Amino acid sequence: MRYRNFPMVPRVVFGNGSFLQLGEILMPKRKNSEAPFIFFIDDVFEGQPLITEVPLLFNDQIIFISSEEEPKTEQVDALVAKIKESFPVLPSGIIGIGGGTLLDLAKAVALMLTNDGSAAAYQGWDLVKKPAIYHVGIPTISGTGAEVSRTTVLMGPEKKLGINSDHTPFDQVLLDPKLTQGVPKEQWFFTGMDCYIHCIESLNGTYLNAFSQSYGEKALELCHEVYLKDISKEDSRDKLMMASWHGGMSIAYSQVGIAHAMSYGLSYLLGVKHGIGNCLVFQYLEEFYPEGVKVFKQMQEKHQIKLPTGICAHLSEEQFDIMINVSFGLVPLWENALGDNWKEIMTYDRLLQLFKKI
Ligand code: NAD
Ligand code: ZN
Repeated sequence: MRYRNFPMVPRVVFGNGSFLQLGEILMPKRKNSEAPFIFFIDDVFEGQPLITEVPLLFNDQIIFISSEEEPKTEQVDALVAKIKESFPVLPSGIIGIGGGTLLDLAKAVALMLTNDGSAAAYQGWDLVKKPAIYHVGIPTISGTGAEVSRTTVLMGPEKKLGINSDHTPFDQVLLDPKLTQGVPKEQWFFTGMDCYIHCIESLNGTYLNAFSQSYGEKALELCHEVYLKDISKEDSRDKLMMASWHGGMSIAYSQVGIAHAMSYGLSYLLGVKHGIGNCLVFQYLEEFYPEGVKVFKQMQEKHQIKLPTGICAHLSEEQFDIMINVSFGLVPLWENALGDNWKEIMTYDRLLQLFKKI
């Protein structure tokens, strides 16, 4: 048996208002006055007070990015080209401020500034050769675990797949729960459920070990407090931020499962976003995750969240075929969920019937 040797985020700050410490955190990492820090910020913050607190110096730059669509390899390539054109030297660092979309873009651009070619060539496992430039993640919505993970999920020309590598994790993460204050309720639910589903898939997977279990159980307990108990808003923000962290840690040593495999298919074909896509799938997975789905429905009920219906109602056979192939392509997810003989359990037809319910 060979055991994986995982990198982790080496530095993390946690606390309400910790965003104000960003300037002093970045200072020692500045290479010189020519090499800027580039801040990728979700455009929902354009014109908001947060922007006045971004510690800009010299030729530092803010690039506002829409998270309307999930990150694409071409978008990463374009950002890398733009940065290389604009500055004579490599930046001192990239700082991503936003949800999973912005965090993943920051990781991917930091990697691609030092690695040649298109980001699409690195989608997969351990294909990245050179270390990224210094990169910092600052989540403004909790749930994906992108702040701790060793992947950056990108839509490429042929597939939606992460760049999974030891160079992907952030060098620094800043967790300031206050930044999540403005998240709309539905989005709070969908992105938070990404964390909940990470826990269920990890804890019920065949890859589970005590390492994953310890993080998964803590994250699940926190999700239960946030979504089923009546705790204060401030407490809830703190706890969900830590749930996301632990949920992400839990899948480092294990994997996600069926909801994620199917949600990637939905996203690839229809552009359905990760959080809502997971929920759309997960509600129909009671045969595989009975307790998890039952509690999910209680949470949905408590917060009066309605999910859209008929998403796959008018798809052609070819379209179902594309989704199924994308989904079956994620072999480790199926292996984790169903074991080595997963192909016998999840047949083409069974998966088709599941997609047809959505
Ligand atoms: P997101 O980043 O797409 O943001 C969702 C919405 O919330 C956007 O409209 C955004 O503008 C808004 N928002 C964010 N912060 C806000 C705030 N403080 N106030 C008001 N609005 C705010 O959503 P997400 O669910 O965090 O991320 C989804 C992405 O994460 C997907 O692309 C998915 O592939 C990726 N992901 C990555 C990993 C990983 O390990 N790298 C894991 C899971 C998901
Ligand atoms: Zn997820």
